[in-house]
Amino acid sequence: LADLRNNLLYGGAMIESSGSLTGLRQRNRRQVLEVVRQRGSTSRAEIAKTSGLSTSTVSTLVAELVEDAVLVESDDRAGATGAGRPARVLRFNPAGGGLAGIHLAHQHIRVGLADLADDLIGTRVVEMDVDGEPERALSCAAEAVLGLVEECSLTPRAVHGLGVALSAPVFSSASRRLPAAKILPQWQGVDVAAELRRRTGLSVVVGNDANLGAIAERRFGVAQNVDHLVYVMLSDGVGGGLILEGRLYEGALGFAGELGHVPVTRDGLICRCGNRGCLETVAGGRAISAALTLTGHAGSSVPEVVAAAGAGDEGARRVLVDAGHAVGQALVPVCTVLDPSLVVVGGEAAGSAELTAAARQSLARGLTPLRRDPIPVVAGALGEQAEMLGAITLAAQRLELL
Ligand SMILES: [Zn+2]
Repeated sequence: LADLRNNLLYGGAMIESSGSLTGLRQRNRRQVLEVVRQRGSTSRAEIAKTSGLSTSTVSTLVAELVEDAVLVESDDRAGATGAGRPARVLRFNPAGGGLAGIHLAHQHIRVGLADLADDLIGTRVVEMDVDGEPERALSCAAEAVLGLVEECSLTPRAVHGLGVALSAPVFSSASRRLPAAKILPQWQGVDVAAELRRRTGLSVVVGNDANLGAIAERRFGVAQNVDHLVYVMLSDGVGGGLILEGRLYEGALGFAGELGHVPVTRDGLICRCGNRGCLETVAGGRAISAALTLTGHAGSSVPEVVAAAGAGDEGARRVLVDAGHAVGQALVPVCTVLDPSLVVVGGEAAGSAELTAAARQSLARGLTPLRRDPIPVVAGALGEQAEMLGAITLAAQRLELL
């Protein structure tokens, strides 16, 4: 049951570098924490009701967690009625330590540190060729995490977990090796969780970046309470995450949601995956930059192109509109089959209103008229931080607060 709850959002596909949480007590404790995390603030009675644990077990575990400074207890004055004693509510203790997240994107590494109450207390971005230099990327990522921990006046001991968002499919099978031979050839065989654990001493969990972006937008962003969600991540690469019936859907092999590799042109370029005309060859960072070769924006990054379009550059605007139409086209079969209630566009291109509008238009045009209403397509609220925040959430779901 505890595992079921822990996997509520992220399905089963987590790779853990250590399975040190064992035994009934630890599982129960984790279950209590998961209820508090999902509710924000809650009471002992509510924890017992939601978790199915007995009230005496909950009381004992809560007392320990308060003693360990993981949870704090206060009077619920807002919820108090009449002259009775105000109820006692439990929350995560903001001063109880931290949780770290890393997004290993293609061209940069983004690191974040949050307190236990989910407030981001520090971030760092390192620009580098992540795809081509795994060894250096892992060292830089570890260094950035440990540097950030120090900068935020914490010690690694006070960091309860590190989540990692990878721009490759992550399998839920027993294999910890990265399977993405074609997507990230240099990373083949690298055990990311073990390597980062060795370099930081932290407990590490790994997930696919777009899947984690979907989780973050649902938890903190524009998709709160949305149970049927398609998330599109448009950055250097193009990814996707699916939340179906309230939980992440990964498919049989972890490839579900790989929107970037849906073919959109018959005679297009060969994609790095080996297929022809994938969405990523049209709407990915390299494609956007290449389309601007003859303009003053040759070699621009996605955020630079978005900024240029915002400043009125017609060429930059045009390439983003074209990318948006291609995204909408790829979304048509996905949305026809899955019937989501919302599509969220995230990643570095999410700031482009013209791209989102074009995607919305092409999707609406392609959907069957049997649907009365178009599916809303909106920009994510978390921007390029979504995947990193999702990594922190992944770490939180696997709290090792012992
Ligand atoms: Zn492809």
